[in-house]
Order: sequence, then structure tokens, then C-alpha cells
Amino acid sequence: MIKLSGIRKSFGRHEVLQGIDLTVNKGEVVAILGPSGSGKTTLLRCINYLEKPSDGEIRIGDFSLDVRHAGKKDIYALRQRSAMVFQQYNLFSHKTALENVIEGLIVVKKVGKEEARKRGIELLEKVGLGAKLDAYPSQLSGGQQQRVGIARALALEPEVILFDEPTSALDPELVGEVLAVIRRIAKEGITMIIVTHEMGFAQDVANHVVFMDGGVIVEEGDPAELFGNPKEERTKQFLKRFT
Ligand code: ADP
Repeated sequence: MIKLSGIRKSFGRHEVLQGIDLTVNKGEVVAILGPSGSGKTTLLRCINYLEKPSDGEIRIGDFSLDVRHAGKKDIYALRQRSAMVFQQYNLFSHKTALENVIEGLIVVKKVGKEEARKRGIELLEKVGLGAKLDAYPSQLSGGQQQRVGIARALALEPEVILFDEPTSALDPELVGEVLAVIRRIAKEGITMIIVTHEMGFAQDVANHVVFMDGGVIVEEGDPAELFGNPKEERTKQFLKRFT
């Protein structure tokens, strides 16, 4: 359902992604692990063209884009199919929680205001924020802001949600509530790709784990296999740090 083929990305002379091939099946939860600087965030950002890959092909569902020939319409079509949850939440500070969630519904999906409001409220209730509809981001904790970010991504009904280290900006006591929400939506069969440093969470929630280092996928597979019996030396060294 999602297929990345030969994805490359350079910043100046530094090739940060050196030909990434990855297939993700519908409903799969993929955790991307790896040391800092290995290219995880860049890969995620390439999938919805927040970074323009230097080369490769991206397929999401029935839509496929070859970066060498991609025009504006292709990029728009790609972005219709994925939604990103950012490390720093990236909410509009002058909009309430509900307005943040329904903005994309109204602007991108052209849903009417009343219908958008109804869906926005349902989604905020789903992430445990039914009592905070009219709160502004500055009135919410980091964990609550991130849950608004997740509701906003869900609102777009994308084929895949991309999570970029969703808990790394949070105080430790707020990490659990956000992971609990992600865990819950994972069970609903939404396809997700999550860059994370939360090893326990990855082991628990993911059904496909990818280990990246130096701009390549070093090893990938079933979590029990990858965590329990890593094959590559680099994977072993990386996982050792967490045991
Ligand atoms: P990770 O998510 O695994 O920590 P990143 O994808 O953030 O890794 O970064 C991979 C490499 O690309 C790093 O060396 C980083 O410094 C570099 N990089 C990322 N974004 C940019 C950018 N906008 N300009 C230049 N270099 C960048």
C-alpha cells in the first residue's frame, strides 16, 4: 500500500538518504529507529514532500509519484494521502484546539463548517480533549497540544499518518498520555509510520520495525525478531544502549 523505491536526498554534498526502499502494508504500524542523524526525520518528511527527495518513487495507495517528473498537482495529491504529526506539534497559536483540528477539513477537504465542527468535536473527544475544545495552544500542556496534533491528522482521514518523534519534546510525565492515544488509534487499523526513540513502545505497538543508520536501512522486520535477534552488528550495538 505504501512503497518507497530508491529514495535519495542530499543537503549540499551530504547525501542523507542513500536509496531507501520500503514497503508498508495497509494497517501496519512501522517504527523507524536509529541513531540521531541517520536520516529518519528526513525520510518521513520526504514521504509527504516537506523535503523534496533528490530521486526515487513514492507510492501511496493507488497514487504514485516519480520525483524526477513531479509537478504541483502530484505533490498535492501525495499530501492528500498522508498527514504528519510533528515533534513540536506545529499548531496555529491563534486558533483554538477545535479550530486547529477542523482547519484542514474546511480548507483541504472542503467540508462544510457545521459538519467539520461535528467531526472535530468527535476527534477531540477521542483523544481525551472533549473539555478543551475552545482552549488555545498556550493554555494546553505539551501532551494535550500533541493530542490536538493527532486529532488534526486523523481529521484528514489520510491513508497514512507520519509521526516524527511525537513525544521527544514532552516532559517525561506527559509521554504516557500521548503514547496511549497512539496505541489506541493503532488498534483501529490506521497505517502509521513512527520515528521514535521509545523502544518499549516500538516493541509493543509496531508490527514492522526498521533500523536506519547512515542514510540506509540496515535491517528491518518483525519486532520480536529485530529486538530479540538482530542480525546486523550496527543494530546490535544500537539496541545495546537501551538494555
Ligand atoms: P534523524 O532524524 O535520524 O536524527 P535527520 O533526518 O534529522 O536524522 O538528519 C539526517 C542528516 O541530515 C543530519 O546530518 C542532519 O544534520 C542533516 N540535515 C537534516 N535536515 C537538514 C537541512 N534542512 N539542511 C541541511 N542538513 C540537514
